[in-house]
Amino acid sequence: MISFYPGPSKLEENIAEYFKEAADSGLLAANHRSEVFMDFITYTKVAIRQKLNVPEDYEIAFVSSATECWEIIAQSFVKNGSLHLYNGAFGEKWHAYASKIKNTQHEYFNIEEPIPLEKITGKQDVVCITQNETSNATEIHPDLIRKLYSKMGDNQILAIDATSSLGGRNLPIAHGDIWFASVQKCLGLPPGLALLICSPKAVAKAEKLGENKHYNSFKNILKNLRQNQTHNTPNIGGIYMLKRVLEERPPIEEIDEKLNERMNDLLSFFEFSRKVKYLVKSQELKSKTLLALSSDPITVGIIKRQALLVNIILGNGYGIWKTQSFRIANFPAHNNNDFRKLKDFMGAHI
Ligand SMILES: *Cc1c(COP(=O)(O)O)cnc(C)c1O
Repeated sequence: MISFYPGPSKLEENIAEYFKEAADSGLLAANHRSEVFMDFITYTKVAIRQKLNVPEDYEIAFVSSATECWEIIAQSFVKNGSLHLYNGAFGEKWHAYASKIKNTQHEYFNIEEPIPLEKITGKQDVVCITQNETSNATEIHPDLIRKLYSKMGDNQILAIDATSSLGGRNLPIAHGDIWFASVQKCLGLPPGLALLICSPKAVAKAEKLGENKHYNSFKNILKNLRQNQTHNTPNIGGIYMLKRVLEERPPIEEIDEKLNERMNDLLSFFEFSRKVKYLVKSQELKSKTLLALSSDPITVGIIKRQALLVNIILGNGYGIWKTQSFRIANFPAHNNNDFRKLKDFMGAHI
């Protein structure tokens, strides 16, 4: 089976081997306050900084999911309110969770239009965006993020959900304050782990707010982090596999270029299809790590079922696009052979 589902998705090739290494190393049963564990966390952070271009002065925390990050941000970083700009289901969910915890404002924008920068005023503490909207396969281009970041006020921070792009796209980490992603998408790992990456500005803001009512209050996370420990007993197996996957991967610039080429190839493949269309037309808004194709619900159903017969799992549509679209992940764990098989199949069905 080849899974093109956007998450959980195809696992990195040597995952089983890495997990065995973890078990054999004794780390899985190590105390999370022990020397050996602290060294392990230190080296994992080195791999993350090197392979994901995370600046030296950014903090890296290990949490359980992107959903948890939504909660941590609302609890520990928002004082007056957060502003949510979104065009799809994940951005919308983030806003819905945050609004149960703090004041929020939101702005929904059309999938064929770029993110409305003019909606950002100095009023909200935290501006929340989804770099790669997994539900409709749009992205906010890294150049636009740089522009957006330059609009942040002194007391304002930019929080970015990069769940389906971190590890695939060369993201401008220094031009954002909080970046987070769970690992079961672009990082090719089993679920149950997420990275929360924070700029000095974000850390200072959380420290000033001093919120410490929850086990996952950022203040508590930070206190442990600074000793290369974690606030709870973490998913050590997941962290170990993340470290090994990153160590073995080429630099992110190289991965970004490869995925970009493969996406362009895929786009030209589908360009003249009679049966399916791109869900999003605008070239610059299309995701590089995910393609969404639309058709009528009957055709979508047939293509998905036929694909299963030849051991190809396509991603269902999501949210309001559920029945009229399907999604194809273009993640680093996929190889060119997977895409050859996909195109062989699609050639006969579109
Ligand atoms: C998958 C996804 C999430 C949720 O991830 P969990 O690990 O299930 O919390 C959040 N945001 C985006 C953009 C996603 O693609």
